[in-house]
Amino acid sequence: MAKQGSLFDTSDPSDTEQLAKLRANMRALLNKVGDRQVCKGPACGAVVWFARHKDGRIGIYNPDGSSHFSDCPDADKFRG
Ligand SMILES: [Zn+2]
Repeated sequence: MAKQGSLFDTSDPSDTEQLAKLRANMRALLNKVGDRQVCKGPACGAVVWFARHKDGRIGIYNPDGSSHFSDCPDADKFRG
């Protein structure tokens, strides 16, 4: 929740920095464990990471590390 227009905005500017760092870490991690690819959903085409889990299943992740299944417009096409 952004507190905009407040004269007493005490939000720490390093928050954004921290967030950017976290995102960079997440991308580095995704690059390490997964393959950067383009989602094959015909209505999607987003850049995603495919990562194989220990149990052999493939997970698809957004650049921020969240599951791509949750916001892919073609998610239903990937579920068997
Ligand atoms: Zn997709």
